[in-house]
Amino acid sequence: MAYLGTPTATAEVIQKYGFNFQKKYGQNFLIDANILDKIIDSAEITREDCVVEIGPGIGTMTQYLAENAREVIAVEIDKNLIPILEETLKGYENVSIVNEDILKVDLNRLVKERNEGKPIKVVANLPYYITTPIIMGLFESRVPLSSITIMVQKEVADRMQVGPGTKDYGALSLAVQYYARPEIMLNVPPTCFMPRPNVGSAVIRLTRFEEPPVKTDDERKMFSIIRAAFNQRRKTLVNALANGLSYADKDGMMIHVSRQEVSMALDQMGLSQTIRGEALTLAQFARLSDLL
Ligand code: SAM
Repeated sequence: MAYLGTPTATAEVIQKYGFNFQKKYGQNFLIDANILDKIIDSAEITREDCVVEIGPGIGTMTQYLAENAREVIAVEIDKNLIPILEETLKGYENVSIVNEDILKVDLNRLVKERNEGKPIKVVANLPYYITTPIIMGLFESRVPLSSITIMVQKEVADRMQVGPGTKDYGALSLAVQYYARPEIMLNVPPTCFMPRPNVGSAVIRLTRFEEPPVKTDDERKMFSIIRAAFNQRRKTLVNALANGLSYADKDGMMIHVSRQEVSMALDQMGLSQTIRGEALTLAQFARLSDLL
């Protein structure tokens, strides 16, 4: 099968199958071979690797993955793409196509069955409408994985990488940096896709930490605090948490914190009573969580 990563080859497949792009699935297919090579290099795929690809589309990147990895599991939600994938990937014996929603599929089971529970690599040109739930789902479900190399909207890539004191810093930055080391690998303009998205894109690699860089007694509680702090990011932390924080403890009991408790914790940490969540580092959120 010829490579699909050119405008002509992609247009031919689309035409042959009378495929209609579905906006609701974030379908923007890659048509630039140079970018595809760079994604594969960034993901550092070897013949040992079992790779999960989210949203293979017509199989453009899947071909590259199949040629470099031991095995590829490609999870695609759109049933209209399945017959196309069966055709475009028929020369590759190490690819399996799974017609499911990545947010619902049991990846832990797949990894157990296909890779003896050993860490996989995730590579994807993500559907942008669900970037955050996909990334959070991969980390929170504890799927054994060593890295995630993904194309996302440029702004979202920036958000994953920044630290306190910048406008892009938020719950996603903290969550990603708790689980992984983020590195933006390349920027990709809209001209590299068919159809062209309205935004610039970037490839980011998230290398999973073996141990999180900070310790906290209760991870879920820390993330409830982080979410509450950034839901009302213009408010002081005292106000944002006293109004907005409630979380379920280990027994499922809903816990609320009082203004006084937050205030005392900030005092103990030597922080100002008027500080906003956007000024706190991950280590400070971990400490605050343990104090509350
Ligand atoms: N990998 C292809 C490429 O680079 O040309 C296609 C990338 S396109 C940006 C995103 C793909 O994700 C589409 O094929 C879309 O149908 C698929 N998709 C969207 N939502 C999905 C979901 N919830 N689960 C699995 N695949 C999904």
